[in-house]
This record gives sequence, structure tokens and C-alpha cells, in this order.
Amino acid sequence: MPKPKLNTETMDKIVSLCKRKGFVYQSSEIYGGLSSCWDYGPLGAELKRNLKSFWWEAMTNRRDDIEGLDASILMHPKVWHTSGHVKEFTDPLIDCKRCKRRFRADKIEEGSKKCPECGGELTDVRQFNLMFKTFMGPIEDEASIVYLRPETAQGIYVNFLNVKNSSRQKIPFGIAQIGKAFRNEITPGNFIFRTREFEQMEMQFFVHPSEDEKWFEYWREERWKWYELLGLNMNKLRWHQHGQDELAHYAKVAYDIEYEYPFGWQELEGVHNRTDFDLSRHKEATGKDLRYSDDIYKEKFIPYIIETSAGCDRTLLTILVDAYDEVEIRGETRVFMRISPKVAPIKAAIFPLVKKEGMPEYAEKIYQELKKRFKVFYDVSGAIGRRYARMDEAGTPYCITIDGQSLEDDTMTVRDRDSMDQTRLKLPEIQKFLEEKVNG
Ligand code: ATP
Repeated sequence: MPKPKLNTETMDKIVSLCKRKGFVYQSSEIYGGLSSCWDYGPLGAELKRNLKSFWWEAMTNRRDDIEGLDASILMHPKVWHTSGHVKEFTDPLIDCKRCKRRFRADKIEEGSKKCPECGGELTDVRQFNLMFKTFMGPIEDEASIVYLRPETAQGIYVNFLNVKNSSRQKIPFGIAQIGKAFRNEITPGNFIFRTREFEQMEMQFFVHPSEDEKWFEYWREERWKWYELLGLNMNKLRWHQHGQDELAHYAKVAYDIEYEYPFGWQELEGVHNRTDFDLSRHKEATGKDLRYSDDIYKEKFIPYIIETSAGCDRTLLTILVDAYDEVEIRGETRVFMRISPKVAPIKAAIFPLVKKEGMPEYAEKIYQELKKRFKVFYDVSGAIGRRYARMDEAGTPYCITIDGQSLEDDTMTVRDRDSMDQTRLKLPEIQKFLEEKVNG
């Protein structure tokens, strides 16, 4: 089936579908909304939870060499001085003298002296720090300033010794974390692509400095495979290597995995070689010996760090964009959200064909049984075609219909959203089938 060509019009359709179906709402909408902040509705919250578990499973539970962590958002302010964020975590800001709009200088045409919106004269570029500040405690003065973390990574670095000691892991090993990060972006936008509050899924892998390149390549491959497993259309992904002018202050080499969104190719995840930059700086600032040694590596050394840093909200947007499909059926344009069963908010819907002859009672029992293991949905209202259509838009991969024959031989039709195939199965077979598709 050819997919519709994605463009900004498609983006508008996706945003409106997200609101209508309960994936994503504008934050504080009844107050007119808060720019760049979004809330996840019932389907969105479920999708996000599934996505995070899918990442967590792959990055911790299915491996022996990665430990999980959940560090606090507020950290000692010195962390951000040491890490270089207070000085260097900036974007170049430019203002239009006429319309007063603000832009990221690196996102407008190079060398342009004119405002891209109104053609007015632009100010000189100045560096704008992206960290949000707040105050700790009742006194609002310089001494009580704390920052909302702009990346989850520092929470991992300051806990390197703790995790190493309590887990008894040996290098090479990693620490993974999912959590909120905040950046006072100059130009947020494109729905949940760039927001000021977002969640990151980061993993920091500690290696011997002589092995950094090998592990860097390893993690590039692993992360690429993860997106394949997630079921994305891999033709829409590509690698982009950072040039010298793009590299963050801590990075030796960096590659982004980019996705082709309706608004163009953009970063989805970064894989960075952060060298020993962060741990060395923290060692210097605290006087704590963050060097590593064991019976294999006799000498003491500061490990190099390979970081994989993905945005949870951005991956969720990618799933939605990638899944969006329109199909003409009998003169009607129908939307199918072809979300993989692994992360789909609802795994299966259960329908009695009609509201009589014992079918609702039978279907209710099937629903109660499946509900013990899977997120399922029971729907008895409306024509069967409409019920299918509602589930296709919600991204539900399977619909199970109970008809007259079910009451005689205990088989039900399982309809596959993408192939439209219908197969008759009994409850234990359905349970096995869903288990394979969802957790396999
Ligand atoms: P950009 O150049 O797009 O601002 P970045 O290079 O600063 O991004 P990183 O610091 O590498 O981004 O962050 C790692 C990941 O965190 C990104 O790949 C993205 O998925 C996510 N991310 C970063 N900033 C935002 C944001 N403002 N909103 C949503 N996700 C974000």
C-alpha cells in the first residue's frame, strides 16, 4: 500500500488526530494553552509507557552489563558549573529589530542579515543559556539558585562510583536512565518535536580509553537495530556525523540518527563519544578519585564514556508520523495508525458482533481473561465497521470478534489491522499469539 506523501498538511492532520483520539493535548488548553508544553492523554500515556519499557528492556533488563538509575532533576548547582553547562550550554540568539521575533542564528540562512518572517533588520548574535533556573528554599538570592537539569547524563556521572560499588560491575559497563530534562529553547516547535520540558532515555557506557572507538561503533549498530525492532520504516532513517562546528563542548565524535519528518530530516537520537571530559572535571572539582582499576586493568584510569541519548517524546512523535496512513475505502478516506504491537497503546479490541444471542456475555468473559495480561478494550457500540475504524485510528493492531459460531466452537475471528487478514482462533491460541506479537 503506498503511503501518503508526508508534508506539513499531514502534520496538521496528525496533531488533530492526536487531540481527537487522546494521544496528545495542548497543555493548559482551557487557559489558552502554554506554548511548547503538551499533555499525554489516555492513548498517549499508554504509548509513552510502552515506549519507555521497550527501551528499558533492551537497554537494561536484557543485558548483564547495564544498570538502571533514577536520579533527581535538581542537582547541586556546582555540577552544572563543572560540566560546562553554565558557560557553554548556549544557543546563538538573534532578534528582529522590527517584529521582535527571536531566532536561533544557526537555524536561519547563513550570512542572512534579514528577518526570515518580516524582512526587518536583525541584531548581532548573542549567546543565550538554555538552562532553566529556580530557587531552592524560601530565599530568592544568588546563593539559592538551582537549575532544572538540561540532560539526564550528569545524574549518571555523579553516581558513577555509587553504581560501580553497589552493582560490582566491571568495565565495560553502562548506566541507563529515563527522566525529564528542561531546556529553555529559543524556538520550540513542530508539535512535540522540540519542547522546553521533555523526557530523555540516556545510557552512558564506561570503557577503557583505548577501546572507545570500538564501543562507539558497537553502540551505533545497537541503536540502529533498536529502531528496526521498534518497527520504524528504516528508509526514513539515516546517520549524520557532526562536523567540527556542530560538536558539543564535551564531544570527540558524534553521530545523530536522523528521521525524515514531514518538516524535513531532523535528529532523533545522538550517539556521542564524550571521552573522559565529564568524569575528569567532576574529579577535579570534588577531589573524589573517580579513576577506575581492577584485576584486569592494573593501571588507574578515568573511563571514556560512550553516550546514547534519545528523546522519548521525539521518538513518540516519530512513531506517530511513521504509523500514519490514509487509505481510500469505498469512497471514504480512512486513517490507519500502523503502530507496532510492541508499543501500541491498546493491543486488541474485543467486539461482540451483535448485542444479543449471548454474544456480549461471551465477549465480556474473553475481555476479562485477556485483560489480565494485555491492555485490551471492549466495545459493543455501533456497527462493526465503525468499531474497526475507531481502533484503526487508535493504532490497535488486532480486533477480536465474537459471533454465533464462537458460542458453538469457542473460535473467534482475529482481524489484523495491517493485512486485514481474519483468522479464527480459540482463547489459548489468541493469548499465545498476542504474547508473541507484543513481547516476542
Ligand atoms: P538540537 O540540536 O536539535 O537542539 P541537541 O543536539 O542539543 O538537539 P542532544 O543534547 O543530543 O540534542 O539531546 C539528545 C536527544 O534529546 C535529542 O536527540 C532529542 O531526541 C532529545 N531532545 C533534545 N532537545 C529536545 C527538546 N527541546 N525537545 C524534545 N526532545 C529533545
